[in-house]
Amino acid sequence: MAKKDIDWGSLPFGYMETDYRYVSNFKNGAWDNGELTKDANITLNECACVFQYAQTVFEGLKAYTTKDGRTVVFRPDLNADRLRDSALRLKMPEFPKERFLEAVDMVVKANADWVPPYGSGATLYLRPFMFGSNSVIGVKPADEYQFRILTTPVGPYFKGGAKPITIRVTDFDRAAPHGTGNIKAGLNYAMSLYAIVDAHEKGFDENMYLDATTRTKVEETGGANFLFVTKDGKVVTPKSDSILPSITRRSLVQVARDILGLEVEEREVFVDELPDFAECGLCGTAAVISPVGKIVNHDKEILLPAGMENMGPVTKKLYDTLTGIQMGTIDGPEGWVHEIKID
Ligand SMILES: *Cc1c(COP(=O)(O)O)cnc(C)c1O
Repeated sequence: MAKKDIDWGSLPFGYMETDYRYVSNFKNGAWDNGELTKDANITLNECACVFQYAQTVFEGLKAYTTKDGRTVVFRPDLNADRLRDSALRLKMPEFPKERFLEAVDMVVKANADWVPPYGSGATLYLRPFMFGSNSVIGVKPADEYQFRILTTPVGPYFKGGAKPITIRVTDFDRAAPHGTGNIKAGLNYAMSLYAIVDAHEKGFDENMYLDATTRTKVEETGGANFLFVTKDGKVVTPKSDSILPSITRRSLVQVARDILGLEVEEREVFVDELPDFAECGLCGTAAVISPVGKIVNHDKEILLPAGMENMGPVTKKLYDTLTGIQMGTIDGPEGWVHEIKID
């Protein structure tokens, strides 16, 4: 085994074709055995359900090297559960959990040379996804599906320090008001493209979406959940059934409560209370936590006490603890770090 000759530290978050991907097809009511393939392209009929009615869901997780040289992924069982929930919501078949976990192992092992070394900050990003593959013109679910896991090496999320970002409260909706906001699906991302381009054009890094019904409560950003810290050190995270249940956020909540002994509240968070928070972060697989320094709510600017230079102290502690668990330098809960044996 020889690692690819790549400058891992300067890789962007982009797609680079690796050697293998995992593919399994669903036809006549059953999944085939699945296999690894070198073919990065997919040929589909022009009328495939995924093209016409966006019947597609996905997941995202990372494979990386721990300090003691093991190749691991973080809590892949939760990605399997969430893919199932997303698939069922779009009337797609379930890809069995044990098969999902086996596919993750197979595709990481086959691409072991693409898993960046410890300390580089880079990771091998895994993108499991499923889509309706046969032709459908009347509105109905497909009968045939493909499940696939592609992999691509991605660079460190924070190059040169985790600088806090500026976000705005947006009037756009992230997803259908009473629809699919709690599933990981391309359709929600398609709905967010206009809003994110608009935010960037106006000088903001991200959007803070509000609940569509009352527009008074904080939901999430386009691709990450919120975590706030109160001035007396309590961790607060929005509870809503229309946000995507982030695995990173759920893990950070457990770290805060059980390891750091912090008080955690999962509850509705109102826009009006934003000025009361000391710290704010966005949590997701890519960054773990991305600190927010400023929130612009239309004509009001909220500068969080943590400021625009560094992560707030509680955010930093959460970040260091979870990344320590992931990298094997801190003991975490049983089963969080799943090792893949590379022979
Ligand atoms: C993937 C995703 C997240 C983050 O979830 P993780 O499991 O932590 O990566 C948050 N919000 C949305 C909308 C997402 O698609």
